[in-house]
Amino acid sequence: MERSARACPSRSLETHYRYATMNLKNLARALRCGFRLKCPKCERGPLFHRRFSMLAQCPECGMKFEREHGYFVGAMYLNYGATVCIAFPGYFLFEAFTAIPFAFNLGGWGLFSALFPVFFYRYSRSLWLSFDYMFNPK
Ligand SMILES: [Zn+2]
Repeated sequence: MERSARACPSRSLETHYRYATMNLKNLARALRCGFRLKCPKCERGPLFHRRFSMLAQCPECGMKFEREHGYFVGAMYLNYGATVCIAFPGYFLFEAFTAIPFAFNLGGWGLFSALFPVFFYRYSRSLWLSFDYMFNPK
């Protein structure tokens, strides 16, 4: 059986390059919207109207932010993962390269682990929404 080049567009290097570039652009866009706390669809509408109060939908384009019940549980995982990825290596780096006593190092990173998720709450929700929109733009 002969397969045509049309049936499998991924054979072309140009196509590979185009898809890779497109994915990098989408990733950059998701990160930009995520860290700017903006709507991933229009990049203009704000996600929050107060510090911890998220809007139900975008005031600019009308995109519904909470797509289903429990949608932002993934944002909690993202927040937890970011906290662990900073605190865990941070503790060991301070332990290895500074003369900070064990209790202060552990206590400091414990305090960081309690406060950082509060700071990162909005960003984790925004990044979660942006990444979800990148993979499922509906
Ligand atoms: Zn919008």
